[in-house]
Amino acid sequence: MEKWNLIIDVAECTNCNNCFLACKDEYVGNDFPGYSAPQPLHGHKWFYIESREHGQYPMVDVAYRPTTCNHCNDAPCVRKSTDGAVYQRPDGIVMIDPDKARGNPDIVNSCPYGAIWWNEDEQVAQKWNFDAHLLDRGEPRLRCEQVCPTGVFRSLKVEDDQMNQIVEDEELQVLNPEYQANPRVYYKNLDNFTRCFIGGTLVTIKNGITDAAVGIEIALTQGGATLQTGESDEYGDFKFNGLNCDSGNYTLQFHSSEYGDFEITTELIQSTYLGTLTLSNTSD
Ligand code: SF4
Repeated sequence: MEKWNLIIDVAECTNCNNCFLACKDEYVGNDFPGYSAPQPLHGHKWFYIESREHGQYPMVDVAYRPTTCNHCNDAPCVRKSTDGAVYQRPDGIVMIDPDKARGNPDIVNSCPYGAIWWNEDEQVAQKWNFDAHLLDRGEPRLRCEQVCPTGVFRSLKVEDDQMNQIVEDEELQVLNPEYQANPRVYYKNLDNFTRCFIGGTLVTIKNGITDAAVGIEIALTQGGATLQTGESDEYGDFKFNGLNCDSGNYTLQFHSSEYGDFEITTELIQSTYLGTLTLSNTSD
């Protein structure tokens, strides 16, 4: 049977918050019987954008990650619900029944992702329900897909086998796989949000004039193995992305026929800018 999935591309999110606002527009003050009670005006974030800033001036990266209910296939919230208040539909969507769930704040704590919110006015636990009320009346796209100007969101109703192939082909990841909840919300380019980099700037000084050292060959190694290679760009900058944070010592080997070879070893804890490194001409 075909089931719903959502792919979120971290690389495309610019933190415009249109998805957050569309969720508010859809659910605040609106009652969808059988689907959801009205979301309160304040306090709930069924959709929100987490941000991460890393590196040091002038080499700083910012990444944004839209975050919501993951519609887990082995959902802890469903497992802990003994009265059917939280359930998964055959099409994969995890729902909180607004009537059965009333008066039970414990449901909020059943989600390890913190995706469930308590509505004090309505006395009910709530979360984003994959716009199930819209899909069931034939809407082709989710509200977040409709409003996102950069195409961050892609919903798919496909067989699980097909989705597994897409996950492999597009190198998709899920949040906190250690929870073993098997989310149906997948992330593309999640490394932008979780991994670290080592970078720096290479310059030369000739006749008192500082200039960018362009095209210097650099190899990033760890434990004797070469992990990545690259060159300094037209500004003399170099950067190795996609490294696990807090992952020990790395050695950068610089090679230039004009300036000779040298290397630097640094410990990577968080993203690191090595600063401006000045090359000296070996014949000077
Ligand atoms: Fe349930 Fe939380 Fe998974 Fe959503 S993210 S399905 S609320 S466990």
